[in-house]
Amino acid sequence: MNKDVYTLGMDRGWNIIDARSSTQVMSSPDVIIIGSGAGGATAAAALAKFGKRVLILEEGSLKTAKDFHNDELKAYAELYQEGALRTSKDGGISILQGRTVGGTTTVNWTSSFRTPASTLSYWRTHFGIADAQEDLLRPYFERIEQRLHIERWAASPNENNAVIQRGCDRLGWQWDVIPRNVQGCWNLGYCGTGCPTNAKQSMLVTSIPEALDHGAQLIHSTRVQQLVWDNDRVTGVICQPMDSHLHDTQGDVIHINAPLVILAGGAINSPGVLLRSQVPNPHRTLGRRTFLHPVCMNMAVFDHAIDGFYGAPQSIYSDEFNAIPDGPELGFKIEVAPMQPSIVSALMGEFGEQHHQRMQQLANSNLMLALMRDGFHQDDPGGQVELRKNGDAVLDYPLRAHLWATCKQAFLRMAKVQFAAGARSVMPVHALGQACTSLAEYETHLQQLPMRIFDVRLSSAHVMGGCGMSQRPEDGVVDPSGRHHQLHNLYIFDGSIFPSSIGANPQMSIYAWTQKLTEALIERLR
Ligand SMILES: Cc1cc2nc3c(=O)[nH]c(=O)nc-3n(C[C@H](O)[C@H](O)[C@H](O)COP(=O)(O)OP(=O)(O)OC[C@H]3O[C@@H](n4cnc5c(N)ncnc54)[C@H](O)[C@@H]3O)c2cc1C
Repeated sequence: MNKDVYTLGMDRGWNIIDARSSTQVMSSPDVIIIGSGAGGATAAAALAKFGKRVLILEEGSLKTAKDFHNDELKAYAELYQEGALRTSKDGGISILQGRTVGGTTTVNWTSSFRTPASTLSYWRTHFGIADAQEDLLRPYFERIEQRLHIERWAASPNENNAVIQRGCDRLGWQWDVIPRNVQGCWNLGYCGTGCPTNAKQSMLVTSIPEALDHGAQLIHSTRVQQLVWDNDRVTGVICQPMDSHLHDTQGDVIHINAPLVILAGGAINSPGVLLRSQVPNPHRTLGRRTFLHPVCMNMAVFDHAIDGFYGAPQSIYSDEFNAIPDGPELGFKIEVAPMQPSIVSALMGEFGEQHHQRMQQLANSNLMLALMRDGFHQDDPGGQVELRKNGDAVLDYPLRAHLWATCKQAFLRMAKVQFAAGARSVMPVHALGQACTSLAEYETHLQQLPMRIFDVRLSSAHVMGGCGMSQRPEDGVVDPSGRHHQLHNLYIFDGSIFPSSIGANPQMSIYAWTQKLTEALIERLR
């Protein structure tokens, strides 16, 4: 196993501070970066290499390979926003986001897709983002792919993923292999609880170390409460340490000034910081157009072992239904989810003995998901980030009729794949869902199921938008360079700047766009 990157780095003199025990902030930073995830870490590495004094502020704590023990309950509590219990405002969608050094990349499942051409075209046409072109982005994607060792997964897919391959083959539907950002992966399958071998090329083991090697300071376990601004400029930030359990803030507030601030707290959290700061919002665009790739799922049982808790979590996908439709119904990407017992038990449904029986079939079960591509139609404006009374950000994401119509389509198509792959039974992940032993029975069952909040177990691991890029200030929060439309030394480099969802797992889009926008920023700073 690789030696712990952070133990070695600290020995070399990395400047890392736990805000709960020290207040030794670097003097006169050139740039403050809020958040250490996909966007924040990418920007930090580039700016530190350019010679800037970079200060990274991260709300989560520093957990590294030596802390990752494939322990679901500990990991969800320690590494995820709101202990992995974040939901949309009405509770209809459970929302997973990371909160730790490396951000969500520390806990993600390593699927690595470029931004689809159809998404770029939509952004050009509807938001005036001229650079949203495959040719212009290609060099950035190529560099990221090289840097994070992104390659199509060469090993055989685990059985959970092979179900998509087999089912689609039999139906004549498109499928392909997923590229992953791993190096020397042990195929453990517990990516979602932090990689214990450092094989996952997350920001925790790549860009954050690179930034630290170039003199950046990382202060973790501190939440930026507000930006301080005056006229058209941000002058600094106000942050506060988290308490010992990282539940809430506690202790002395710190003011830090810098001539440049990059907000990279991720969707929901970045708009939350701006709302708390009461920044100018003349067109009421802040927090609007937040998208989730809402997910609905089907559970299938096979006669043979699937063991979906082991092996690369996602290695096969199907885009058979992932085009942008003409109407408000959504396209969807078909993938599977890893099947660690704690998280899957929440989806199995039923209580007591019946729940027990379903869980006993875990090793033979396959969990397929449809990742819906929201935000590509005028009648699909996504959600709005708001503040709770205590100042925490929350997403109001109305569940509209076209989403339910898409769920119905997606349930049925996933069942077709699962039965074609040889499933003994298939059950929609729905409060009233029952295992059906034929496609005809499933179709009848589906017709009777109400498509409504709480019954359909919707979830999301991809939060995007809320600080959208736009040419015109009327249409978004930042311009196509990532600069805030009203505050001219504030940049936002994270998934919140996307004007729609991506239509594919988003981490690569965030790396590539951030790399591009940071390099352009560096040119302006020269
Ligand atoms: C379980 C799971 C699996 C996933 N799998 C994949 C996958 O396989 N492929 C893929 O492409 N995508 C995947 N994703 C999504 C992907 O990882 C995220 O979309 C991406 O990391 C988001 O990048 P970001 O920079 O916007 O925010 P993040 O990476 O979430 O980083 C934001 C950071 O900012 C910190 N922060 C927030 N507010 C503050 C504040 N006020 N002060 C200080 N710090 C703050 C947060 O704690 C966090 O660490 C997955 C997500 C989850 C939850």
